[in-house]
Amino acid sequence: MGSDYIIKNATVVSVDKDIGTVSNCDVLIEKGVIAAVGPDLQYSSKPIVIDGTNAIVSPGFIDTHRHTWQTQLRTIGSDYVLSDYILNLRQIYGASYTVHDAYLGNYCGALDSIDNGITYLIDHSHIINSPEHADAAIKGLQDAKIRATFCYAMYPNPHWEGSCMDKEREEKTPDWRLHDTKRVAEKFFKSSQPGDLLRMGFALSEPDLTPFDRLVQEIDYARSIGCKVITGHFNFGKWDPGNCIIRQFGQRGLLGSDLLLSHGNTLRDDELEFIAKHGCGISSTPDTELQMGMSHPVAFKAKDRGCSASLGVDVCCSAPADMFAQMRLLLQAQRHLEHEAADSAPLKMSRSCEEVLEIATMGGAKAVGLEKVIGSITPGKRADLLVTRCDAPRLVPAHDPIGTLVLYANGSDIDTVMINGEIVKSGGKLTNVDWPNLREELRASVAAIVS
Ligand SMILES: [Zn+2]
Repeated sequence: MGSDYIIKNATVVSVDKDIGTVSNCDVLIEKGVIAAVGPDLQYSSKPIVIDGTNAIVSPGFIDTHRHTWQTQLRTIGSDYVLSDYILNLRQIYGASYTVHDAYLGNYCGALDSIDNGITYLIDHSHIINSPEHADAAIKGLQDAKIRATFCYAMYPNPHWEGSCMDKEREEKTPDWRLHDTKRVAEKFFKSSQPGDLLRMGFALSEPDLTPFDRLVQEIDYARSIGCKVITGHFNFGKWDPGNCIIRQFGQRGLLGSDLLLSHGNTLRDDELEFIAKHGCGISSTPDTELQMGMSHPVAFKAKDRGCSASLGVDVCCSAPADMFAQMRLLLQAQRHLEHEAADSAPLKMSRSCEEVLEIATMGGAKAVGLEKVIGSITPGKRADLLVTRCDAPRLVPAHDPIGTLVLYANGSDIDTVMINGEIVKSGGKLTNVDWPNLREELRASVAAIVS
């Protein structure tokens, strides 16, 4: 374990109901854990001092839905609807990825996340063109030192002349991915403790395109090999064919707190009840949902019904790894929805910045079953936190620290990022990364994929 730290004289936005938001507050980090939070802390260790004057300490963001491998395809889908995305990303570009492309996509995507204050990622990895792709994607996350759950996806990219797919393997052993998850679990995820930086997860075959019995088989198998999160795409608005799969899961006794449902925009009321009852997580991705005709994000509605609602970035081809943007989109879209539904002009704000910050941090931790480990500035939790400096012209003054984070700040304001008590961004720069060299390597990978 590395150094101990004390952040002195900061404004702490704890997202812990018992601590709240405290000005002129210290945060002590010992052995990777938040040891104490309060004014003028006394300590016997010799921590490194970080000045928190004019800065906000807050929990790292938790992104509960990302296809991290797509980092090389940024901006390609800026004007896509969902069908464009499926055709181009999941039929063409994905099948063009080599093992090294998968590594670089995940490594650079995780670094970009850290730069923007995302300290935990659900990597829904549907780039497993070969077993080596799985290993490379995991190594990318490991090398970036991000906290993540690697969700091994069953999706087979199509093989075509010149693609990076092994046609023979796909045709002779179409089920190889399901069995390869066991190899990956044994190779990388033997420890399986809640505080581990990397954990094993599973991403289902597309639920609306898969026979129900196959989904049941996948869930049972994922649980049998110890996957901590089982995720999938469900109920996305106008694309929802009405199968009500969550209702069927509920009736068959398949729901559990290990299930994480991405989108869920058109979940029926009884399905939300099932989700709340069984403690499943929901990941809203406002950027893609609002762009691609997937209907209004369900997060607030789900939260109102007692579900663990969280936020995700989703695709990289049209959405930056930016949880500030996701918070803003979600909050203002919800405010708009509720204002429009009212009979007269609004005299009271129904949704607060505090509520959406909670969704982006503790909500995410609950959705992935790590609420006792991360998600808030709480003594005893792992030290996954951000120090945001309020020095930029945009951030002076910062009367309301939560409003500052939700409505004004961006990644460039984040001075320090700590994951598991280790500093991974400092002085506004990623640590231990030779970005100019890495950038050229990434550009070469982009050129090969696009060609
Ligand atoms: Zn997705």
